[in-house]
Amino acid sequence: MPKVLLLHTGGTLGMDTGRPGPLRPGPFEDALRRRVPELWEIAEIDLEIFANVDSSDMEPALWQGLARRIFERILDYDGVVVTHGTDTMAYTASALSFMLRNLPRPVVLTGSQRPLGEIRTDARLNLIDAVTAATRGEALPEVVICFDSKLFRGNRARKLKIAEYDAFDSPNVPPLGGLGVEVVIPPIERKGGAFRLLDRLDTRVHTVLVFPGADPGPHLEIVCSGRVRGLLLLAYGTGNLPIRGERSFLPVLEAAREREIPVLIGSQAIKNAVVLPLYEGGAQAEALGAVGAGDMTPEASIVKLMHALAYGETYDEVRTLLRANLAGERSD
Ligand code: ASP
Repeated sequence: MPKVLLLHTGGTLGMDTGRPGPLRPGPFEDALRRRVPELWEIAEIDLEIFANVDSSDMEPALWQGLARRIFERILDYDGVVVTHGTDTMAYTASALSFMLRNLPRPVVLTGSQRPLGEIRTDARLNLIDAVTAATRGEALPEVVICFDSKLFRGNRARKLKIAEYDAFDSPNVPPLGGLGVEVVIPPIERKGGAFRLLDRLDTRVHTVLVFPGADPGPHLEIVCSGRVRGLLLLAYGTGNLPIRGERSFLPVLEAAREREIPVLIGSQAIKNAVVLPLYEGGAQAEALGAVGAGDMTPEASIVKLMHALAYGETYDEVRTLLRANLAGERSD
């Protein structure tokens, strides 16, 4: 019988009153056994209540604790399932993918749009699918999100729908597998290198959504305040941004470069990749040291910035890490 560790962190899946209340391992396991007894036919399951929060309260310290727990335990299991709220699941999946480098076995995040106790809940099938994926062991050495019968690379996934069961997608890469009438999860070859825990993060990151009429002034003040160490600009299309008159963002980029604050430029468009040199705004930003986010999601970009700031020792080292494909988060 395969062995799976199930780490519960909270979210709608475990809620019964619409809010996460205190949850104890015993009663939660009883509820799981009552509602989804099939889980124990798929694998021997050890359940731990790691946390019980709405995922809007997940934070980097919890990502670190989760990564450490998984690092300590995963080799005793075929895989790990993490039950998690859907709202920030893509951030946690990205964080785990950077922290658990060269992962040997699956870490499968799942959750649901409706609580486990409801008749038409999606929690049952998502749990069954997630545990099924976790039993793949060495054939699935990835942090993945399993949702609505599909398996997505965790650091490529996004929550795109608020009130539909197929809430997740990975806009720039196809799903890694499907759990429809047939379970199709093609084996993935593990990248070489030792399994390592890289759990440091520097959270002094500031994100800017560029919009027509946006005042760059407050962002300039933040850059000059000494409080931030990395900047993510979510710009237009290929990474284009305003460069004329009072609304120009170039002074923000100049101030960042003077202070050796790395700037990553992503896009508000959901599909395809940022190509900074294509238009004048992006080209000037690149000339001022900004790095294009390629086809990374905003979630992966923010977490990667925290990770790169913690591991890059110089401005250039951080920029090199941002450009690199560390855990499948961007196309080479
Ligand atoms: N607010 C919930 C959460 O992210 C939503 C969900 O789980 O679907 O924790």
